[in-house]
Amino acid sequence: MFDVTTTSPTHWKYISEGGASIVFSYVGPSNQAFNHTALRLRKAPLETLNESLSEEQQLEDPDDPSIAFQHQVIERLLPEEFLPRLEGVHVNRAWLEGLARIADEHRPPERKARDAVDTRKKKATLATDLVGGKGLAVEIKPKWGFLPSATHLSSETAPVKTTTCRFCMHSHLKATRGAEVSEGYCPLDLFSGDADRIRKALTALWDSWVSTGGSSNNLRVFVEGQMLRPSATPSSIQPLADQLHLSAEENFTLYTVRDAFISRTLPMLLQTSVLRILAVHQSNLDALDIEGLVHLWARAYASRTPGAALTTGQPEGDDAPPAPPLGASMPQPTLDEWSAFLDVYINKHTQMDHDHPDIANLRYYCLAYLLSATFKDCSLIIQAPDQGLGAVTIIDLDVKPIDRLDKWGKLDREIVEAYRQAGRPTQCVAN
Ligand SMILES: [Zn+2]
Repeated sequence: MFDVTTTSPTHWKYISEGGASIVFSYVGPSNQAFNHTALRLRKAPLETLNESLSEEQQLEDPDDPSIAFQHQVIERLLPEEFLPRLEGVHVNRAWLEGLARIADEHRPPERKARDAVDTRKKKATLATDLVGGKGLAVEIKPKWGFLPSATHLSSETAPVKTTTCRFCMHSHLKATRGAEVSEGYCPLDLFSGDADRIRKALTALWDSWVSTGGSSNNLRVFVEGQMLRPSATPSSIQPLADQLHLSAEENFTLYTVRDAFISRTLPMLLQTSVLRILAVHQSNLDALDIEGLVHLWARAYASRTPGAALTTGQPEGDDAPPAPPLGASMPQPTLDEWSAFLDVYINKHTQMDHDHPDIANLRYYCLAYLLSATFKDCSLIIQAPDQGLGAVTIIDLDVKPIDRLDKWGKLDREIVEAYRQAGRPTQCVAN
């Protein structure tokens, strides 16, 4: 394991932070181990920082669970060239305190009032620095790239769910609640492999990126490590125009920058096999749709409980007890269980009869759905330099908690019901 304390804290530049962690980019002298890397550190609430960690916590201090999940699960499903380097590194208190002092002047005041670098930690996460480097980096959250098969859908939901993709339906529900959505963006276009349709998807992503001032959830643009915040004024995206060599022209507009942006990124999305691989896993792992999974769950429960109803939630009329909520009291899979799951998924999944799922495979299908959710919620980073080779990398492939299954089932019903009632469905084009 590398020891990051061999570098000076001044060689790390503050990049950004979220609720639980804070990220730095290596800017020191050339160093085989740390060139082009980012360091992710855990934060802790201010009031807890003076408490010492229990002996147990000190002994454990486990690596970030996303590191083990990536190495043991994700790397079996995606080619390594598409994944960031991700590993644990040693840190110590004195070094972290030095870094925390340097970070302080760059941190947003509202964050500083709440938390700080957890200086009690002995380990941190080192990852490929995908946005902090030179040039243009684009982050796209593509979402669901497939339409479900009708096999396990009800007669009410099948016409809607096989016509309109999940993202377009969900956007509709969010918009009726006043949330900002990427209007006009359909993931099936982005995943299509067709130049015209990818252009359409990028155009829609760009337009909602501009109209939401950069807060739309599906596109982010970084130039030289800075995240851009577009406005209606073209100068708000001057660094991007510079990257795309538009600044020499007297009057670049949002539209000329958009066209140049698409010309830079579109060829990379056409050439990469990332999107195809991602869509295959998303759809294979979601073989039953959440509706089929709910039904399998109810069947499995009824087979164990004579007289139980074949429904989840409220009993329907008779006195039979309903099945408990989907996934209730199921333990989160361990890494060993994930490995065993992958042995089956990789070798046998395509030969299994998913039209008639066996209740003995309930746990298998629950894990499969959980993993499909990871692939539905990840992001792509497109590094699109002016010259030289670009790269497309997949990030945020974290494991999801299994207790979300029930929420996903309910959300699915809510999304489809709202969409059915709205009438006039969008025809998404299947791939
Ligand atoms: Zn769609």
